[in-house]
Amino acid sequence: MENTSTPTHCPYCALQCGMNITPLPRGGVEVTERADFPVNRGALCGKGRTAAEVLSPAVRLTVPLVRDGGRLVEAGWPEALDRIAERLGATRERYGADALGVFGGGGLTNEKAYALGKFARVVLGTSQIDYNGRFCMSSAAAAGTRAFGLDRGLPFPLEDVPRTGCVILVGSNPAETMPPSLRFFSELRENGGTLIVVDPRRTRTAEQADLHLAPRPGTDLALALGLLHLVVAEGRTDEEYIRERTTGWEEARAAAMAHWPEYVERITGVPVPLLREAVRMFCEPEAAMVLTARGPEQQSKGTDTVGAWINLCLATGRAGRPFSGYGCLTGQGNGQGGREHGQKADQLPGYRRLDDPAARRHVAGVWGVDPDSLPGPGRSAYELLDALGTDVRALLLMGSNPVVSAPRAAHVERRLRSLDFLAVADVVLSETAELADVVLPVTQWAEETGTTTSLEGRVLLRRQAVAPPPGVRSDLYVLRELADRLGVEKGFPADPEEVFEELRRASAGGPADYSGITYRRLAEENGVFWPCPEGPGETGGTGVADGEDAVSDTLPDDPAADPGDTAGVPPARLTADARALTAAAGTAGDAGTARDVLPGRPTADAGARALPGAPVAGSGPAVAHPGTPRLFLDRFATPDGRARFVPVVHRATAEEPDDEYPLLLTTGRVVSQYQSGAQTRRVAELNAAAPGPFVELHPRLAARLGAADGDRLAVVSRRGRAVAPARITGAIRPDTVFMPFHWPGEGRANTLTNPALDPTSRMPEFKSCAVRVEVVGPA
Ligand code: SF4
Repeated sequence: MENTSTPTHCPYCALQCGMNITPLPRGGVEVTERADFPVNRGALCGKGRTAAEVLSPAVRLTVPLVRDGGRLVEAGWPEALDRIAERLGATRERYGADALGVFGGGGLTNEKAYALGKFARVVLGTSQIDYNGRFCMSSAAAAGTRAFGLDRGLPFPLEDVPRTGCVILVGSNPAETMPPSLRFFSELRENGGTLIVVDPRRTRTAEQADLHLAPRPGTDLALALGLLHLVVAEGRTDEEYIRERTTGWEEARAAAMAHWPEYVERITGVPVPLLREAVRMFCEPEAAMVLTARGPEQQSKGTDTVGAWINLCLATGRAGRPFSGYGCLTGQGNGQGGREHGQKADQLPGYRRLDDPAARRHVAGVWGVDPDSLPGPGRSAYELLDALGTDVRALLLMGSNPVVSAPRAAHVERRLRSLDFLAVADVVLSETAELADVVLPVTQWAEETGTTTSLEGRVLLRRQAVAPPPGVRSDLYVLRELADRLGVEKGFPADPEEVFEELRRASAGGPADYSGITYRRLAEENGVFWPCPEGPGETGGTGVADGEDAVSDTLPDDPAADPGDTAGVPPARLTADARALTAAAGTAGDAGTARDVLPGRPTADAGARALPGAPVAGSGPAVAHPGTPRLFLDRFATPDGRARFVPVVHRATAEEPDDEYPLLLTTGRVVSQYQSGAQTRRVAELNAAAPGPFVELHPRLAARLGAADGDRLAVVSRRGRAVAPARITGAIRPDTVFMPFHWPGEGRANTLTNPALDPTSRMPEFKSCAVRVEVVGPA
């Protein structure tokens, strides 16, 4: 590699901050500031700043491991790959293809997610594939698809946040999860806008809010309905917008009107005057947004909870208008792209439905296989993990650590141990990899080139900056070698750009259309927003092409899975204003130009200007599609172009407190650890800042229990027991305790969490379960 800085993106969260990797004279590399990426403008959190530490051979896997006599011992690549292929083949021979499971991750690049989905369906022939992103934002994806016909986490760039009038952040704590994004909310307030935070805890984000609403965990569905009730009662609905751009209002309105503010106060604990104040703040400005994260989404009613917040946006005319709308702050590094390219149980690349005959024909054509040979939808993530050792006998797992991150984790760990065979490809020896029969050391982030798609729907190029350690191979190499050994010699290139070129073809015409995106454009334009069809810019918009079904983020056996006939959606047609706004704001990765075009209104031909990297005459279309930073400005991705209200009503969480378990547990993150902690727990600086789990509880509850700060507490649910020191704070409700979920062992929060599933998204109820707390002893 050349001894110069390489511009790339952070390996961790969905903000995908830009950073440079710079070699050090004494060896190794350091992360340095990269100011040209508009999302973080050089700012990084501690995780990003220390990301180079995980490249060190001292903390990562550098050689394959195979289980021998009960222990993992070093092996050569041929031996490790032979063993995996032999065991997968033998299991399929004995039990059938669906006895093979595949589990992916939201941190895998688009190329890896695509290749893994293809490998499962073409090489293994199994339907049993899903990934850990199911545990992340699947409820928001399902609700967004149901309402708008299309899920893209944020249908607008983050740079629109300071331009709006009010943001309601629901169950989101960016001060801990993605600190560089906080500047958008600070700028919002500097511009005269207001920030409302909905969270049971007074988080570091809530401390910056103009208004903090602290509902009981699991009641924000009722909270949203109460706000909508007040919007109607106070005559703040946008009737013209409702009439012209939506359907289903009367049913949704009736459902909301059954939720009187006083009734909502009893359910949520949020006083009526605060509900009224929130409605005033949200409705008075011309533009406003609702952004959700895991709080409302990780519930057994997550889809309806997010749906209630979407209904609030629709009733007030907030969706599909500049600087307004609903969005989801996706968590994992490639949480957006990871759900678009076929590693989900129910999807094919391009965010196509696996049960859609036209989608199957298209993708099978790209893959060169018979559409009828492709298996149907399989189990969702938790259901797949729960079937290990019974229906599913062997598992190939890439980039995930369910021993720490899955709900009811002790049970999941037992299921993993009961497998006939487990193969794990990972960067480090995670708690899940420790259980494997074969562990493959694979390349990561700065050691490979690939694309990710940020929470904004911005496709980004991560460039290789350093060579991997000699014993390490890429996941794409692993899939190619396994395919070869299992009798499929073609169709699995190890070169990421070659895989991306195939992904472009597979996604063409689908909801998440990447066909106009190339590595060259990504490098030159600092990212491109999908949908970006190949060819002239005039046809971009909602991303649903002729005769193509809009995507569903639901499993087909669920009665709520089919919100309507989605066939025959016409091509997107933007108005001149909307197209020009989109084009002017969407090129060259600088969405911030939108602030300049709005007041004066752009000219209608703004979208026709040539772009850097656009194909020239004679080598393809004269003008490249600019990408689509803002969706739905003219129409939604539904058959009639209208957003769909869905009537929803309050219902209890799957597990309410009782005499035996009188408290609620909610879980979340801390700023210095990431997800299951598999990488960040190996970084000394991060470990020093966040060395272990804790139990946050209110002083009144602590007094009742006789607990002092630092005392060891046991938190007990119907699924198990976790022990961690007390952290007493007035920032949490007295009826609720909080634990971060980044650690294994006795403090593992997910030992306690409830796998009750949302019927539509199959999201487990991470955010609320009934517990009791006991003092185990002093610190
Ligand atoms: Fe940015 Fe997220 Fe990386 Fe922190 S972890 S530097 S917020 S991408």
